[in-house]
Amino acid sequence: MKAGVLPVIYTPNANIMSSRENQKKYDVCVIGGGYMGAAVSLGLVQAGADVLMIDKVSKTHKASRANFGLVWSQSKGSGNRPYARLSAQAVREFSPFVDNLEEACGFDVELRLGAGLVLSLGEQEFAARSAALETLHQEATANGETHPSELLDRRQVQDLVGKAILGDQVTGGSFSSIDGDVNPLLLLKAIRKMYQKKGGTFTQGCEVNHLLRNNAHYQITTSSGTIEADKIVLAAGLGNISLCSKLGMKIPVVPQKGQLLVTERVKPFLPLPFSGIRQTGCGSIMIGYTQENTGFDTNTTVTAAAQLAKRAMQIFPALQHIRVVRSWASLRILTADGLPIYDEIENYPGCYVLTSHSCVTLASLHSSLLPPWILGGQKPASIEGFNLERFNVTV
Ligand SMILES: Cc1cc2nc3c(=O)[nH]c(=O)nc-3n(C[C@H](O)[C@H](O)[C@H](O)COP(=O)(O)OP(=O)(O)OC[C@H]3O[C@@H](n4cnc5c(N)ncnc54)[C@H](O)[C@@H]3O)c2cc1C
Repeated sequence: MKAGVLPVIYTPNANIMSSRENQKKYDVCVIGGGYMGAAVSLGLVQAGADVLMIDKVSKTHKASRANFGLVWSQSKGSGNRPYARLSAQAVREFSPFVDNLEEACGFDVELRLGAGLVLSLGEQEFAARSAALETLHQEATANGETHPSELLDRRQVQDLVGKAILGDQVTGGSFSSIDGDVNPLLLLKAIRKMYQKKGGTFTQGCEVNHLLRNNAHYQITTSSGTIEADKIVLAAGLGNISLCSKLGMKIPVVPQKGQLLVTERVKPFLPLPFSGIRQTGCGSIMIGYTQENTGFDTNTTVTAAAQLAKRAMQIFPALQHIRVVRSWASLRILTADGLPIYDEIENYPGCYVLTSHSCVTLASLHSSLLPPWILGGQKPASIEGFNLERFNVTV
């Protein structure tokens, strides 16, 4: 097993900052070129803004390059209807979002929507899944809405997965007819490429070190020079912790490690994606993912790999004949309540903090919903509650 080897995303025309970029003043500078920064930057240039997106090269695998690639709504938002709504809306907007990207970029990002399953092993897990789904449905109904998922028993799941024979312990699961998956590396490449095609500037390999508000605009000091922008967007994942501290603010964001496995390529045998098991376009099976609170550590462990492999083989015994070729771990970006932060910092007008888990799923919405607000429009009511105030954060 090779630990931690990931393909690099080639981003044409991303460069070290030139003297022209150094001297220019931008409408918006977006710090972070992962899923959050890239999706928002794309929406900003599409709305006509002059945008610079800056992304530092990192030694560890950032979540945007190391995630599982699910476009998923069915398990999101228990206890928080606005988040359940955002997730479902993002998934529903995914197809047109990807159609535009593929047309502009000329390559396929391997999007499959229309079916996604969360499987249960044993009666206890099935009962817990059933209860979780019941809560999501009740909360939707109480708001005059529906939740896009249903509970399936073992026989119904087996009918859906066809030739992929289920292990004896599989009891059933939840199914969503809107969820799916995508190649997350190709999708990120497409978002960045379209952003640049629309006129956005992308500087890769450059770190933002200091932020200063000066005469109603911002000075951004980077490892390659200082630039100016009317507005700044902090979309740097866990890097937002350090960026916010430069403005005197402690943002309640912590890392959570997720390890996953990738197998050798095999003929297609999984007809749809599962939470934790999916077959990629090139035939590999991805098996995930742990949830470990081990700080900023991104080491893989054999113990975690063995647990992941064991569960996957309990679900699909045929996997025991397929070799694991790679494993990596990366860090989720989690707020104290697990929900997004979309806010403008009160004492720093024009400085926006954006952070969320599930930024692959939310990419379509981040690109359409956030830019008009950042460019001076009304904050959308649907994200009003995802503010800094709920954590009593002060600057
Ligand atoms: C194991 C795992 C599986 C996941 N699976 C899924 C999934 O199936 N579906 C889904 O929707 N989501 C999934 N996620 C979550 C998803 O990957 C993240 O929500 C998303 O990648 C976060 O994107 P981001 O841009 O906020 O952060 P990041 O990916 O961390 O990107 C931030 C970028 O900012 C840059 N940066 C940081 N500091 C600075 C600085 N000072 N100057 C310049 N640049 C800076 C970093 O180098 C980085 O490139 C998963 C995450 C993990 C870890």
